[in-house]
Amino acid sequence: MSSKITVTLNGESRVVPVGTIVRDVLNGIPSRDLVAARVNGKVVDLTRKLEHDASVEPVLADSPEGLEVIRHSTAHLMAMAVQSLYPGTQVTIGPVIEDGFFYDFAPATPFTLEDLPKIEAKMRELVKADHKIQRTEVSREDAIRKFAAMGEKYKVEIIQGIPDDHVSIYSQGDWMDLCRGPHVPSTRYLKAFKLTSVAGAYWRGDEHNAMLSRIYGTAFAGKEALEEHLKLVELARQRDHRKLGREMGLYIFDPISPGSPFYLPKGVIIFNALVDYMRRLYRRYGYDEVVTPLIFKNELFKTSGHWENFRENMFLSPDPDSETHTIDTGPDGWHHGYGLKPMNCPGHTFVYRAEKRSYRDLPLRLAEFSRLHRAERSGTLHGLMRVRAMSQDDAHIFCREDQIEDEITLNLQMVRDVYGALGFERVEFKLATMPEQHLGTEEQWRMAEAKLGNAMKRNEIAYEINPKEGAFYGPKIEIYVSDALKRKWQVATIQLDPNMPERFDLTYTNSAGAEERLVMIHRAILGSLERFIGVLIEHTGGVLPLWLAPEQVRVLSLSEKVETYANEATDLLKREGFRAHADIRNEKLGFKVREAELAKVPYMIVVGEREAADRSVSLRLLRGAKSNAMPLAALVELLKKEPIPA
Ligand SMILES: [Zn+2]
Ligand SMILES: [Zn+2]
Repeated sequence: MSSKITVTLNGESRVVPVGTIVRDVLNGIPSRDLVAARVNGKVVDLTRKLEHDASVEPVLADSPEGLEVIRHSTAHLMAMAVQSLYPGTQVTIGPVIEDGFFYDFAPATPFTLEDLPKIEAKMRELVKADHKIQRTEVSREDAIRKFAAMGEKYKVEIIQGIPDDHVSIYSQGDWMDLCRGPHVPSTRYLKAFKLTSVAGAYWRGDEHNAMLSRIYGTAFAGKEALEEHLKLVELARQRDHRKLGREMGLYIFDPISPGSPFYLPKGVIIFNALVDYMRRLYRRYGYDEVVTPLIFKNELFKTSGHWENFRENMFLSPDPDSETHTIDTGPDGWHHGYGLKPMNCPGHTFVYRAEKRSYRDLPLRLAEFSRLHRAERSGTLHGLMRVRAMSQDDAHIFCREDQIEDEITLNLQMVRDVYGALGFERVEFKLATMPEQHLGTEEQWRMAEAKLGNAMKRNEIAYEINPKEGAFYGPKIEIYVSDALKRKWQVATIQLDPNMPERFDLTYTNSAGAEERLVMIHRAILGSLERFIGVLIEHTGGVLPLWLAPEQVRVLSLSEKVETYANEATDLLKREGFRAHADIRNEKLGFKVREAELAKVPYMIVVGEREAADRSVSLRLLRGAKSNAMPLAALVELLKKEPIPA
């Protein structure tokens, strides 16, 4: 065996002795930015020895892989601190999760939030001590002996489940953990972390096992990134749409119907304003609205493919005409039962088929806002973001093959109209391709995927591929928006479906008089209105543009003497078409202002005796600005200038 190997870095090769440390071939990169390396594609410790020819790339602290290394190393640091502060506590597992990490411990008494500052302080102490982090490989038996001697019965159980002969152990100071790694070279690399919460968690997620004590934390490459993250987390907490929805009086949830919002009058105003906006666009873009049944015989879903591919997400009901009154969910159960529709598409095929269609009738664009029900698992439900009952700005376009690209283009335009008007600046596109569970042939799928890709290219839209994430009946364009908290939400989708027309035998008469198969496009621009409202509330913090604000103006009286004028001003605003209310309660102005602010009323109008005398108003905006008194008529003009998307 040669004692030299070839190392490739940045496309340049050089020869180094076997056993050269990874770190040593990455010279030139400041060590504060470097936390690990990718050797032949695999992320490893900087202290690893190179035994074979290899391509080496640095893994920087602020890269996604770098952050993972930092976060897992911070989990180890936390475990070391915990075991030194609370002797006798056993360790279990400590994986990296989105935005952070956790570690599950078996302590004498469960940890509480009060323990966290003490643990953090100990962690900082260990960082200062700059313990080297070292990897050793030991035989499985040795590892079991070692951890058994330490009284770590959970670790022993983990190692017993590992099939390999050898396992790796990472140690720092007098502390060690069974771990695959990789890790940062020493504890001083861990500069920016925060322990965030505690929770109970069953060993191996099984409720029959012991309850462990979990500590969550997060870590970043630097203090600034950590601060920024913590700020956004706090903002997200303050803007939680469930909290704001309650404060603004928009909607409530009740266990009597899990995952199904009860819209209050003010919530309905937002809902309807969005629907009205979509209807204005529908007139412009040539859509017709229909209303189809909520409940269908299951033979519909058998034909559409929902029975095979979506049944576990459907609410089913027995056939009221049958003797048994039971729900048969077996493969043939569709013969005797009904299902609540989870999607509008199967129903729309009946509207299409209600008449004979010729090539001149196409495209036919059918829209529907009906409620849909999906049996999402109760553990996944989350406010308006994940629901069992929803409405979509749903539509199905029945068109000829040669019309597909134009139709997709029109929809991409509508996406831009809508998200521009609603104040989302960043819109991203993905192409979701054939999933494992799908209808139709692979060839059909690849053709449909290419069509969607072409339409985006034609419109100069850059997109990523989202592999295997298409709907079971066809590929889709997924549209994501980024909110003010830098989170990404999937909202709109445009899906191409060659399967449903096949299954429902949908045709049109072509110019030669023959029947031809058509194509269906499923699309929604806002997506689920529930989810969209949730996103919008968190994006804006509840401060909606005037056209969406449930209460647009609140008139606040300074005293009983101006009650009549306050009511007159409110009535005038109402006559002008604004959603205005008067607060003439005998309360202090500060109190009334705070209540109006909590309800996120964009325009607060203060009227006192001076205003009543010259029929003026003093304006106070939600965002804090105040103005001098202005004539009531001038206020009306101001309100009329607020934009409404057409
Ligand atoms: Zn580990
Ligand atoms: Zn559909």
